[in-house]
Amino acid sequence: MIKDNILNINQKIAEACKRAGRDTSEVSLITVSKTKPLEQLKEAYAAGSRDFGENKVQEMLDKIPQMPSDVRWHMIGHLQRNKVKYIVDKVYMIHSVDSLRLAEEISKEAVKKQVTVKILLEVNVAGEDSKFGTTCKEVCALAAMIAVLPGISIQGLMTIAPYVENPEENRKYFRKLKQLSVDIMSKNIDNVCMNVLSMGMTGDYVVAVEEGATYVRVGTAIFGERDYGQTT
Ligand SMILES: *Cc1c(COP(=O)(O)O)cnc(C)c1O
Repeated sequence: MIKDNILNINQKIAEACKRAGRDTSEVSLITVSKTKPLEQLKEAYAAGSRDFGENKVQEMLDKIPQMPSDVRWHMIGHLQRNKVKYIVDKVYMIHSVDSLRLAEEISKEAVKKQVTVKILLEVNVAGEDSKFGTTCKEVCALAAMIAVLPGISIQGLMTIAPYVENPEENRKYFRKLKQLSVDIMSKNIDNVCMNVLSMGMTGDYVVAVEEGATYVRVGTAIFGERDYGQTT
C-alpha cells in the first residue's frame, strides 16, 4: 500500500540521518508521481506527501488543478525552453537546469509573470553520455552566470546517479555532488545559495541521505513499477 511504502521510506530516511549524524528535518521526500493516475497521487497526499515530482510539462499541468493547492510541484525532468512559460508560475522548484540558455528563458518568463523561480543546477556527476546535466568542471561558472539573471534563485544542485545494482557504487557520486556544493558556497557568489542537494532515487536514496541529500526523489518504492506502455 502507498501509505505503508511512504512510512517505510521515511523510516529508512530517519535511520540514515541517525547514522550520518543529521537531523531528520533536513531531508524531504519528493513523491515522484510521473505516469501515475490521480487517485494514487491522492493516496500519497492522504499519507502526508506534499512534495510531488513530475518530469513532463503537460502531465504536470494536467495534475496541478486536480490536486490540493498546498502541493509543492517539482519539475525533475529535462525541460525544453519552449515549455518554460507554462510552468514558471506553477512549480515550486525546477531541478533540471543545465544550461545558460534554459536559465535565460526561465528568467525571461519569471520576470513577465513577476515571480521568482527556485532552481537547482543539474550535474552529470558520473559523466554518463545518456544523461543531461552540466559537468563538474563547468557548474561553478554556470552558477555565476545564472546568478545575475532576474527572477531566478539558485538553491543548490541535483544529480541523477547511474542505474546500479549495488547502491554503494553511487556513494562516490553523491559525495562528489556534496563537495561541489561546498566548493561553490566557498566562492560566495551573490544570489547563489547551496542549501539544497537533490539526489537519490528508489535504488539508492539511503546512501544519498548518508552523503547529504536534502531531497530524495522516489517513485517506484512508493507506487511500484511504472508502465510506460500506457502513456505517451
Ligand atoms: C523517475 C525519476 C525518479 C524516481 O525514480 P525511481 O527509481 O522510480 O524512484 C527520480 N528522479 C528523476 C529525475 C526521475 O526522472
